[in-house]
Amino acid sequence: MNAIKDTLLMGPGPSNVRDSVANALTLPTIGHLDPRFIVIMDEVKAMLRSVFRTTNDLTIPISGTGSAGMEACFVNLIEPGDSVLVLENGVFGVRMADVAERLGAQVDVEEFEWGTPVVVDRAAKAIASKPYKIVAVVHAETSTGVRNSVEELAPLVVESGALYLVDAVTSLGGLPVDVDGWQADAVYSGTQKCLSCPPGLAPVTFSDRAREVLAARSRKVPNWYLDLSLLTSYWEGAKRSYHHTAPINMIYGLHQALSDLLDEGLQVSHDRHQEAHEYLVDQLKNLGLELFVDPAYRLPMLNAVTVPGGVDEAEIRQRLLSDHAIEIGAGLGPLAGKIWRIGLMGHTARRENVDRLVTALGALL
Ligand SMILES: *Cc1c(COP(=O)(O)O)cnc(C)c1O
Repeated sequence: MNAIKDTLLMGPGPSNVRDSVANALTLPTIGHLDPRFIVIMDEVKAMLRSVFRTTNDLTIPISGTGSAGMEACFVNLIEPGDSVLVLENGVFGVRMADVAERLGAQVDVEEFEWGTPVVVDRAAKAIASKPYKIVAVVHAETSTGVRNSVEELAPLVVESGALYLVDAVTSLGGLPVDVDGWQADAVYSGTQKCLSCPPGLAPVTFSDRAREVLAARSRKVPNWYLDLSLLTSYWEGAKRSYHHTAPINMIYGLHQALSDLLDEGLQVSHDRHQEAHEYLVDQLKNLGLELFVDPAYRLPMLNAVTVPGGVDEAEIRQRLLSDHAIEIGAGLGPLAGKIWRIGLMGHTARRENVDRLVTALGALL
């Protein structure tokens, strides 16, 4: 553990944690049914509703990272044979399809070129092609740095009668997420991206319609740990009962991270991400570096940067980490070796961090 030193986390997650959150994590552990802890749980639910912009009763953090949130949304809603459409343009769309297939769903994947967004017209045709139970899309595709137009797709999904399932892991806190405005039915996120809390919890929200689908299942949810109909006996109601031991200190951390975000203001946080992004793009231009994604659908919190010809991208990343204590990410899948992924997530999204990175990159290039 002695080798672990402060590192500027400018990769695709985790992001840097504020001191306030780090301190919250070290508060004394108390019991998971302690009345004082129940108060903290209820406050976390209320703050999550504000951050997700929803009135959904069922809005809780799942124990596990963002992927546990993905798994929870699919496993609670899918029964074998159900039709699911995934609008896919990156790693996390591929993962959604994999998760849904493992649950026995009939999965159709409408694929869009990586580095470009889901095209609404083509998505509309796919959505209308047959009656789907679920249509799923990733808001902020962290693997490519592309923002998908969740809001433009929303009315199409709603009109089709399908449940709208949205991945907001990277967007929540850094881009407007409007669960009720989109009429989204199942949305999940993670603590380790723009919420600036360590990895370990996955906020999830279910609409009343999604809850009805869950209640009307013909068989039990096939995963006991993630079964929301059981988890609600711990997270809701006057009398709480044991399901699994909540990760107490992580929930302290999330409580603090959400308070910090709401104190700052959602809009102010979104603007801070956008400003840091624009500053980064400008500074990279001075180094002769270009972004991989068109400005119209670039993510502010995840910047895909084209690796210049003749540069050993892995060596640069490794030396940034070893000599400058800065982490950035590599490309994935077809983009491996072609891009770097520079994160400006949560507390990391500040000018001085951009300056530190650009100075270090300039020296290495
Ligand atoms: C990071 C991420 C996930 C998975 O989260 P983990 O915390 O790695 O499990 C899912 N979706 C998107 C868009 C992500 O960026």
